[in-house]
Amino acid sequence: MKASVITIGDEILIGQVLDTNSQWMANRLHLLGVELVETVSISDTKEAIVSGIDRALAIADLVIVTGGLGPTKDDITKYTLVEYFNDELVLCLPVLESIKEKFRQRGLPFSDLNKNQAMLPKQATILPNALGTAAGMWFKSQGKHLISLPGVPYEMKGLMDNEVLPRLKKIGSFPSQAYETYVLYGVGESVAAELLETFEETLPNFIKLAYLPSPGRLRLRLTGVNQNKILLKDSIASYGQKLMSVFKDFNVIEGDVSYIHIVQQYLTNNKKTLAIAESCTGGKIAAEITSKSGVSSFFLGGVVAYNSSLKETLLGVSKSTIDTFSVVSEAVAKEMALGIQKKTGASYTIATTGNAGPSTDQTQEGLGVVFIAIATPEKVVVERFNFGQPREKVLEQAKNKAFEMLGKEILKNQ
Ligand code: ATP
Ligand code: MG
Repeated sequence: MKASVITIGDEILIGQVLDTNSQWMANRLHLLGVELVETVSISDTKEAIVSGIDRALAIADLVIVTGGLGPTKDDITKYTLVEYFNDELVLCLPVLESIKEKFRQRGLPFSDLNKNQAMLPKQATILPNALGTAAGMWFKSQGKHLISLPGVPYEMKGLMDNEVLPRLKKIGSFPSQAYETYVLYGVGESVAAELLETFEETLPNFIKLAYLPSPGRLRLRLTGVNQNKILLKDSIASYGQKLMSVFKDFNVIEGDVSYIHIVQQYLTNNKKTLAIAESCTGGKIAAEITSKSGVSSFFLGGVVAYNSSLKETLLGVSKSTIDTFSVVSEAVAKEMALGIQKKTGASYTIATTGNAGPSTDQTQEGLGVVFIAIATPEKVVVERFNFGQPREKVLEQAKNKAFEMLGKEILKNQ
């Protein structure tokens, strides 16, 4: 099924409102398996609406229009569509009752303008709008479908999810979709493309390969669309195996994975170890690691040294460093990372010290500032971050950044 989405409104064309309706609908239609061939924004004039629909119906089986269903003079979509499909407006009693009820509940006076919203096309299927007063309308003509929905985003979304998509599922036979992502480290896009030349030639036409490069890693995504769900699933799996075997001499991970996976895989494969010294993150980093199975092969353990004196006694941070630079500082983070490395003999260590908030004490740094240090077998790197507030966000971001920093150091070694 091919579809066109038309958003109506001068406010979109003058840049006053960003057309988020198209993007949201595009994603919903894609997930259903509908092929969206265009999204168009047009002015709210009769001529623009008529020529927009003419054109869309010529290239699509389904046209979804949003906007211009309100009770005011500038809302002309309904009147234009009724004329376009040679229909006529009649009073729809269930819609009238539901509009009246909404006004009663909110204690608002009910006017003729509002009554007009219950005047709806006789031949169209009326889609009740639980979140507003403008009902949706579904016109059918010569085997094609045109659906008109209100422009207000949450009303449009409610109507799509509750009325439009369930009906579309019943009338269309949609192909299945499947995809799998493979993440490569230490291989550039052009090298990968050369290695994949033969593989790409053998791909059936219902499976596509996409290259998604980013610093330090390359994601390869196999996407398939087919009516036969089992064939599709088996094909993606078998071509996925072939793709993995092309890169057997490199570090390739199946699935769209994060830095913590890289860390785990590298440390395990290379028989390296990790230890952690946490202050502000209070054990969050260690907890994230131990939430995964199979980490005992590389994770030695960690220390939560929240109080300054514990940083000195357990990690060997010097008192003069703390006195000179204060406890939230690059120098202290560095000494924590080196201290835990010395105590445990770990190949890699992570250390955190920061002001998670909501208040700070005895530091020279502001709220939300965190220093993260990574010690490797060769060196120590420290970065200063300002994660702002609130506290939960600071702690979560500090934890994620710590894995990212360690992951990046590891990637440099490959
Ligand atoms: P109303 O009853 O509010 O008049 P309507 O169906 O007539 O509803 P519009 O007048 O076109 O819809 O738009 C109402 C509001 O919804 C706009 O002011 C705008 O904020 C938002 N809106 C409309 N179209 C879009 C769109 N395509 N993307 C995002 N927001 C939109
Ligand atoms: Mg309006």
